[in-house]
Amino acid sequence: MAANPLIQKFNTPFETFPFDQVSNSDFLPAIKHWIDVAKDRIASIRDSSEIADFENTIAALDFAQKELNLVSAAFFNLNSAETNDEMQSLAQEIAPLLSEFANDVVLDEKLYQRIQQVTSAPNTPDAQMLFKKTILAFERNGAKLGEKEKNRLREIDQKLGKLSLEFGETVLRDTNSFEMLLEHEDDLEGLPDDFREQAKSAAEKLSKAGWLISLRPDSYLEFMKYSTRRDLRKKLYLAFAARGMKAEKNNLKVIEDLVGLRRERANLLGYSSHAAFILEERMAKNPQTVLSFLENLKDHALPIAKNEMKMLEEFAQVTEEIDKIQKWDVNYLLEKIRKEKLNIDDEALRPYLPLPEVTKGIFEITRRLFGLKFKKQTNIPVYHPEVETYEVTDEQDNHIAVLYMDFFPRDGKRGGAWKTAYRGQYHYEDKNVRPHISIVCNFNRPTKNKPALLNFQELTTYFHEFGHALHGMLADGTYPSLTGTNVSWDFVELPSQLFENWCYEQEALNIFAKHLETGENIPNDMLESIRKQRVFFEAYATIRQLGFGMIDMAWHNLTKDDEISSVFQLEKSIMKKIDLLPNIENTAISPAFSHIFQGGYSAGYYSYKWSEMLEVQCFDIFQKNGIFDAQTAGNYRKLLAAGGSTDADMLFQEFTGEKPNPAVLINRLEQK
Ligand SMILES: [Zn+2]
Repeated sequence: MAANPLIQKFNTPFETFPFDQVSNSDFLPAIKHWIDVAKDRIASIRDSSEIADFENTIAALDFAQKELNLVSAAFFNLNSAETNDEMQSLAQEIAPLLSEFANDVVLDEKLYQRIQQVTSAPNTPDAQMLFKKTILAFERNGAKLGEKEKNRLREIDQKLGKLSLEFGETVLRDTNSFEMLLEHEDDLEGLPDDFREQAKSAAEKLSKAGWLISLRPDSYLEFMKYSTRRDLRKKLYLAFAARGMKAEKNNLKVIEDLVGLRRERANLLGYSSHAAFILEERMAKNPQTVLSFLENLKDHALPIAKNEMKMLEEFAQVTEEIDKIQKWDVNYLLEKIRKEKLNIDDEALRPYLPLPEVTKGIFEITRRLFGLKFKKQTNIPVYHPEVETYEVTDEQDNHIAVLYMDFFPRDGKRGGAWKTAYRGQYHYEDKNVRPHISIVCNFNRPTKNKPALLNFQELTTYFHEFGHALHGMLADGTYPSLTGTNVSWDFVELPSQLFENWCYEQEALNIFAKHLETGENIPNDMLESIRKQRVFFEAYATIRQLGFGMIDMAWHNLTKDDEISSVFQLEKSIMKKIDLLPNIENTAISPAFSHIFQGGYSAGYYSYKWSEMLEVQCFDIFQKNGIFDAQTAGNYRKLLAAGGSTDADMLFQEFTGEKPNPAVLINRLEQK
């Protein structure tokens, strides 16, 4: 039997992942092998007879699983970008192994004792940060608690796991149990052809005649946006807004149990609330900062949002004879007024944005900003022939990173777009180990005669992911757990959202956006419309986002003595401050708010608007100094290079010279 290529040093250009030598059956044994190696290393750190110090304990721990990280990152990236049944069932086996290993580490009492013997760390930002974070990782899992409390903590964790699952299952049940079968052509008024096509084949799958509309996001959102039939929109909305509450077994009680247990867990660990526990490791740091951020933004955005609604009401009266806009009208009206006022045809932009030119443009922009060069490679192994690879160097040809780009949809690739790392950056034994970064997208494919042509949304997606990739590629830290995009949650979207701004700048667009046939740049009026679209009814959208953020915080910032109110009570008390549309009885957001009750967004929903604020403030600096100003880019590069080794707040203030300031979001709104 051939040796497992994942258990040896990679014999490939730049030590890239040996996709060409690996078969699926190599992953599980390799991961088991590297878990054992990591365990052995950790045991010898723990049981060492030397005096514990930063290097032999804290730092050694961070490097203990560097090979394991490499193989598991590749496996899960592959499982997202090029999966099959075998990979998926392997994932079911591998994921629990990894979480069991991670748990064993932070629950190891003797290891915690050993760590406590370390009295100081070198006086560098990343050593100090690693010291602090390592201790926290143990303590946030109960290392400081007595036996009885520890047991209670485990019990709570198990219950929370079950409740989250139950929450998700109920949302899924209520999503799937509803269907709206349309039997007459005139029920379809306003719906685009391809949507009708999908609805028809959805009905056919159930051996029914007609068109089937469901509550699944793609179906629901499209219908609400395009259907001219107010009665049907209402029917669909009422079903959608009752998800999680449709049967006796519903999420109302589950939510109360979830937030109660999350609070108890936080209290056990010495935090006033679940939000305080979560935010300790975020840029915002504490609930008070988040609450005043939300409140402040609300005060600024609400008057503008009210004006927007007035405008929409007038529009609705004239065009639809709708007197009072209801929740089931908004998306439809917004789409209609957008078409009328902005006159944007997303398809008309495509000829200006051929993918190969856009790629060259992005490379040129990053050359001007950071002096990076991209050399196409042909001998780096890839997992699919469509994947492009580049060596990234600085102007003196020093190696910086390897970049993979995988642009088009395939069976076996999940939807959306993302950035991942096949190898993170770190320093080890005097060597600067450089990163291998990958961007995966689902862009419109090329045809026989034409290259792939992007629409504007695909363009901003490309820039977004490239912004993340820069964070990874320009990383320059010491410890693997603190480099690149390993930063706090409410900071990680700053580089990606910031880079999107170059898509709206003529100076940047003129580099690459040229019409496929005429060679002309994007006409001014088109560009103007795109800019307007960015802030079109944005105050309304902001208020909606704030509503979600406020509900999230209301559930998760409950302290010991607060009473847990019912879902309807809690939401009413928030929505009455910000709701721009009439309240509908027996509907609620929380029972289907999977982000915070099933996913990882609890006490984190504010991050969307928070990172937008950071991005606006950072881009202001570029606009003041010039979007290609080398010195500004150089300063910004320091923020990227630092990764998670320095406090995010400090990095931000060093670059902007300012504190986070929600008012800038309003300035952007008012620029229209
Ligand atoms: Zn992102």
